[in-house]
Amino acid sequence: AKRNGRNRYEHFTLEMDDLARSRRVIENDLRDAISGRQLKLYYQPITDGDEKGIIGYEALMRWHHPIKGLIMPNDFIPIAEETGLIHLLGAYALYEACREAASWEGDQSVSVNLSPLQFKNSSLVSVVEGALRESGLAPHRLEVEITESVLLDDTLGNIRTLQSLKALGVQIALDDFGTGYSSLSYLRSFPFDKIKIDKSFISDMGDSREALAIIRAITGMSRSLDIQITAEGVESSEQFARLREEGCTLFQGYLFGRPQPSELRLKTLE
Ligand code: C2E
Ligand code: CA
Ligand code: CA
Ligand code: CA
Repeated sequence: AKRNGRNRYEHFTLEMDDLARSRRVIENDLRDAISGRQLKLYYQPITDGDEKGIIGYEALMRWHHPIKGLIMPNDFIPIAEETGLIHLLGAYALYEACREAASWEGDQSVSVNLSPLQFKNSSLVSVVEGALRESGLAPHRLEVEITESVLLDDTLGNIRTLQSLKALGVQIALDDFGTGYSSLSYLRSFPFDKIKIDKSFISDMGDSREALAIIRAITGMSRSLDIQITAEGVESSEQFARLREEGCTLFQGYLFGRPQPSELRLKTLE
């Protein structure tokens, strides 16, 4: 058994070496990607499911690697966070999203994901200000998405950052709601415009009473707080109908459209 354990251990450390090496490769490649325009934002529609149709788009980063092809954000955002490259990458996302949204014909909003590290960085507000100024985008058309993890500590500093963003006229969404240490009491102390229910609850809703109960608790509370509820990961018309009944007001998911480059984004809904 001992020998076996040792083999397993050696195997494990080998894999760790591989992993460390491939992370270093990705880190170097990522530096090139940022300077070489290999990063592109794709836009996924958000709809009110009604007459107004598409009210905005969420910007989701894609990396077109010259050799490896398409790399998804879950495979490079964590590395960007570990290496500090996230600040450069995050500023790029804000500038690029504002620039592209300003060129759209309608007045749809654009939602940009903020890494917790980016949110904590003292330059965030001036980066957002710069992106708005340079693009000329009306501030209310920009929305930033933050996750609840940023609210766990340093409450006063967080409230100040959120208020500075609000003072610029930017909208704020709380992303992936329900997955962290959510306390519904956050919602009264922070100025959120929207809450996005994590897609895991939407996919479980059909056969989990707990998932449905959580969705109900969130929509119930939002009614008294004047916050809009976005359901993410809506894939079927059954889910859509049900979520609407439960009081969700905005919807996002493959049912309505996949993330697309800015120039193709109108092809997602017919
Ligand atoms: P997220 O913010 O929760 O984004 C939603 C994810 O769900 C996206 O994955 C989207 O493509 C996917 N999705 C949308 N509709 C559906 C659906 O109907 N079914 C399913 N199964 N999935 C759906 P994606 O694009 O791979 O992004 C993953 C995560 O990477 C994002 O999760 C976000 O946390 C992060 N991310 C993406 N772009 C950026 C960025 O520019 N900056 C930062 N900091 N994070 C980003
Ligand atoms: Ca998001
Ligand atoms: Ca989300
Ligand atoms: Ca997520």
